Amino acid sequence: MGSTSYQPFPTPHDPPLTAIVIGAGLGGCAAAIALHHHGHKVLCVLDKVHEFGRLGDSLGLGENAFKLLDKWGCEVDEIKRIGNQAPNMTIRRWKDGKELAVQPLMDMAGYIGHRGDYHDVFLKWVRRRGIPIRMGSEVVAYEDVDPQPIITLKNGEKLEADIIIAADGIKSLARPLVLGMRDDPVSSGYACFRAFFKPTPEQRKDPTINKYMQSDCVNFWIGPDTHLVQNTLRNGEEFNWIITHKDDGDVPESWFQPGDMDEVRRLVQTLDPDIRGIVEQTEKCLDWKICYREPLPTWVSPLSHRIALLGDSCHAHLPTSAQGASQAVESAGCLAVCLGLIDRKEDVRIATRAYERLRFPRTRASQTNGEDLRNRWHGVLKGVDEEREVDPEEVKIRNAWLYTFDAEEDAKTRWEDVRAVVEDELKAGRIRPLC
Ligand SMILES: Cc1cc2nc3c(=O)[nH]c(=O)nc-3n(C[C@H](O)[C@H](O)[C@H](O)COP(=O)(O)OP(=O)(O)OC[C@H]3O[C@@H](n4cnc5c(N)ncnc54)[C@H](O)[C@@H]3O)c2cc1C
Repeated sequence: MGSTSYQPFPTPHDPPLTAIVIGAGLGGCAAAIALHHHGHKVLCVLDKVHEFGRLGDSLGLGENAFKLLDKWGCEVDEIKRIGNQAPNMTIRRWKDGKELAVQPLMDMAGYIGHRGDYHDVFLKWVRRRGIPIRMGSEVVAYEDVDPQPIITLKNGEKLEADIIIAADGIKSLARPLVLGMRDDPVSSGYACFRAFFKPTPEQRKDPTINKYMQSDCVNFWIGPDTHLVQNTLRNGEEFNWIITHKDDGDVPESWFQPGDMDEVRRLVQTLDPDIRGIVEQTEKCLDWKICYREPLPTWVSPLSHRIALLGDSCHAHLPTSAQGASQAVESAGCLAVCLGLIDRKEDVRIATRAYERLRFPRTRASQTNGEDLRNRWHGVLKGVDEEREVDPEEVKIRNAWLYTFDAEEDAKTRWEDVRAVVEDELKAGRIRPLC
């Protein structure tokens, strides 16, 4: 374990509540760690893939997540060390790189690192707690039954627990069960081209393209209906760019869809030459359609109330929020606390219903914060004199308020009020929709 003084809480229930987590992404790992810390028994974390690669590119983790991970005995410095070390980030004008605003990096994403590297550390934290991670275990069916819901794996095996946590991502299989209907993604009208690579020694020496390869740095170029994020890690050894652009095409919702570099080169024709060169020289990229889902009216299964969604399965964020993983960590803390505050196993339903009610407004505020930033960035230079002075406040990232929050303390403080409401609703057999 990380800290030698770390001790998980004693179990609040005897025998402890049992849990199965579906999905070993950052959200599922956080859920397993949080439940373990609060004295619940995590039987296993299941993931459908056989092996994790170094997938994705830049991902941010904020202080709101670190605060909880630290309480749970995770050595957060392991993450901080591999995140971007730049003190500041700069927001620039698309066409010429003119500085529009400079902000501490902590105001945006906290530590921006490679998702795959962060994921490795989360997986290690889960394993250190003796929680089994079962790879190649795809859940293909759910039975929403009391007192223990049942899941079926692709190999026919059936598993059950007091609570099932579906941290199974944006394309969640559990979500239609929870909602009682399909919910197909809606195009947000935007897509991202994304590339992460090691620049060659020649590229790192070439003064026409290496301006942003010297040391860790984060810059954003904003323009009408588009922006580019650049993240340089490990003192220039690794380089990442992400271009968000209008998209009315039909790219499937996937993390693995190859992008068309000719299209990228066309998009960056008007971009600041100091960054354009390395984008143009990039060999390949991914094309990631940003799909939108309406906020869900419920995160918990209707019959047993013991299958709960967590993370991207119920509150996926836009990239501009830089909070998708951090909010999943918060949700994990809140759910673990709620499960610790019930008296009996029969009351899991009170915990899950309180969890969704406690978390919904906060995750919505965090989601809309990301939407607001994208709209401000894409709108500020639109249809106006391009030479006008932009007030830095108009383009600054406004995430700082998200970081002071402690999701566990919030759950404890509001528990009694929310529990009373939820208990009344359960007695009446009418759960008020979240939205
Ligand atoms: C491949 C990939 C790349 C990503 N890249 C980025 C990035 O570059 N930047 C960024 O900000 N965010 C990225 N994300 C999203 C980011 O990781 C999440 O927003 C955040 O970490 C919260 O994720 P989550 O754990 O809720 O879901 P996810 O990270 O999506 O994890 C869900 C997990 O559930 C597993 N799963 C799904 N269905 C089943 C099933 N039926 N049975 C068993 N297991 C199942 C999946 O294999 C996956 O490991 C990426 C996600 C993925 C999956």
